[in-house]
Amino acid sequence: MSAPLPFTLPPAFIHRVQETLGEQFPAFLEALRQPAPVSIRLNPLKLTSSPNLEPVDWTDTGFYLPVRPLFAADPWWHGGGYYVQEANSMFLEQAFREAIHGVEDPVVLDLSAAPGGKSTHLASLLPAGGLLVANEVIRARANVLAENVTKWGTGNVVVTNNDPVHFGSLAGFFDVMLVDAPCSGEGLFRKDPEAVREWSEASVQLCSQRQQRIIADAWDALKPGGVLIYSTCTYQKAENEDNLKWLLENESVENVPVPLNPDWGVEKVTAGKLEGYRFWPHRTRGEGLFMAAVRKTNGKLHQPRRSRNKAITPATRKEMDMVQGWLSGEADYTWIRHNERLLALPDGSMNALEQIAGNLKIVSAGTEVAEIIRKGVNPLPGLALSVHLNRETFPVQEVEPETALRYLRREDVLPEGSPNGWGLVSYRNLPLGWVKRINNRANNYWPKEWRLRMDLAEALKASEQEDRLIHRT
Ligand code: SAM
Repeated sequence: MSAPLPFTLPPAFIHRVQETLGEQFPAFLEALRQPAPVSIRLNPLKLTSSPNLEPVDWTDTGFYLPVRPLFAADPWWHGGGYYVQEANSMFLEQAFREAIHGVEDPVVLDLSAAPGGKSTHLASLLPAGGLLVANEVIRARANVLAENVTKWGTGNVVVTNNDPVHFGSLAGFFDVMLVDAPCSGEGLFRKDPEAVREWSEASVQLCSQRQQRIIADAWDALKPGGVLIYSTCTYQKAENEDNLKWLLENESVENVPVPLNPDWGVEKVTAGKLEGYRFWPHRTRGEGLFMAAVRKTNGKLHQPRRSRNKAITPATRKEMDMVQGWLSGEADYTWIRHNERLLALPDGSMNALEQIAGNLKIVSAGTEVAEIIRKGVNPLPGLALSVHLNRETFPVQEVEPETALRYLRREDVLPEGSPNGWGLVSYRNLPLGWVKRINNRANNYWPKEWRLRMDLAEALKASEQEDRLIHRT
């Protein structure tokens, strides 16, 4: 006798999935009885050695962990060394590689991006010169997205806080558009019992209609020849295949096949001449997911307009001189002044940024390097966390786990032997943030909204487990 499920599945859900899966249904139920696998995606520009962990098949940077540690107690997690993400979602890497094949300096939109799992992945996959607009309609969630993007530190992302309909004014602007749509969340059932309670047949229908509206609202923003990557974390045909069929009926599109290895266990499904890829928890080690890639074959070309946003201007020579040498010289940058901040974006992105700023509400952009004050400039948290930081410019203090955790709790820590002035707190060679020493005290510049709220003793104990699991690299 199998153990009962830890939650009660709605009968209508059982009926639908049973119909789709047939004799595989008992295996599916058995998978729901198991704990969800734990996986992380490493930041390849922060952690360079391969960990001694089991890899996720469809990405170069994903790994399974044997148990779930308390991630909040790991300074590397706070410092953007890795992102905790369920493994099947990392299939985005395969679809995205197809989507940007042959595109120079791609401009990419992640339309419903918070909390940032797929955005941080896209940011790492973008070639140099590419730019990602990571958008989230709900303001509080857009702030969390900006935090995660800042910690990831790639500097090639503009975070915006807009409704999909606002993207209509950027007609033909994006080479790739990811719509990771809000959905009925069936794929999350074993991770989140709340998703089971909220499920109903009516909500599936509502989600399907909302997904169509989201795609329709933003559709003009995709270039002719550009690729839509559509994904949900649900099994329902109404939210997946039926939406592809709806797209076929209403727009001019063609299929973009994503290569599959038969050993992966991914199910390929069809919707007319389009294809989708479905992930089941009994066939792959991860949660329920659907993904498809579709090329737009006609539509409007982008007509650049002059920016109406006066808050964004090119930085002056004098402003750039104040931060001379703060970023590594390996890449070229476009320097921007946004209100009182100096930002660095990928070289050549001024025109794109002007268009974005003229049409959308920007939450953060590129690497936030410095704040302009009366007497000069102060370094910003985004610089400490940036993969472009020039580590030669500021004194770096390597600290032990306890000091790192105290720092993240925003306690005043005084790294031993540090000189007066600005210094970086670093944990296992990963810079976290700034302290400013004035003789026998030091101010902590870790942002208060990011403060670690966990009890120090508990965090220290848990960090020993991370040490064994993640840091054996
Ligand atoms: N892509 C994210 C990631 O990988 O971390 C997860 C996105 S989640 C599946 C869907 C997102 O859509 C949520 O952040 C939600 O706030 C947002 N959303 C909700 N209603 C929306 C709407 N009407 N239009 C666009 N986005 C919406």
